[in-house]
Amino acid sequence: MDRRTPEQIHLNMSAIHSKDTKPEMVVRKYLWRCGFRYRLSHKRLPGRPDLVLTKYRTCIFVNGCFWHGHNISFDHKSLDIENSACCKIPKTNREFWVKKITRNQERDLEVKQKLNAMGWNCITIWECELKPTKREATLQSLAFTLNEIFLQNYRVKPFDEQEPLHLVAAEPKSDYDDSSQ
Ligand SMILES: [Zn+2]
Repeated sequence: MDRRTPEQIHLNMSAIHSKDTKPEMVVRKYLWRCGFRYRLSHKRLPGRPDLVLTKYRTCIFVNGCFWHGHNISFDHKSLDIENSACCKIPKTNREFWVKKITRNQERDLEVKQKLNAMGWNCITIWECELKPTKREATLQSLAFTLNEIFLQNYRVKPFDEQEPLHLVAAEPKSDYDDSSQ
């Protein structure tokens, strides 16, 4: 049961917009512990991504499900919108909320397109994916994705693909030279 007063709920909602919100801290602590280094809300990049990992050419957005309309697709002609499990649009002032959240979604998309065009990868982590039951899996998959991106960016080949080249270079030439026999 939610025992919070409306004021507390409002405060929690507005906290999602400010810096150092809890979900973002969860991601930051994990990445730091795993040795990933990042910059915070990079001012010169579109959308001021929450975390920027230059070495991985990756921006990470930690999004609040309500403000960014997680799993909600808006029909712009109608206010008859179905809530998702983690984004429930208030019944009062519905038009206001729908407009606001739609605008946020559109801006999120624009920002990602701009960053992609600049050669940045974008990863969005949703607040609901950081709930205690899902947290570990979410963070592990984030680390996995970052490592995949790193491999792709730098075209590091797996060891077994490098091996034949390495062997040829290391062996004396005559062993491979048919004309000498
Ligand atoms: Zn969500």
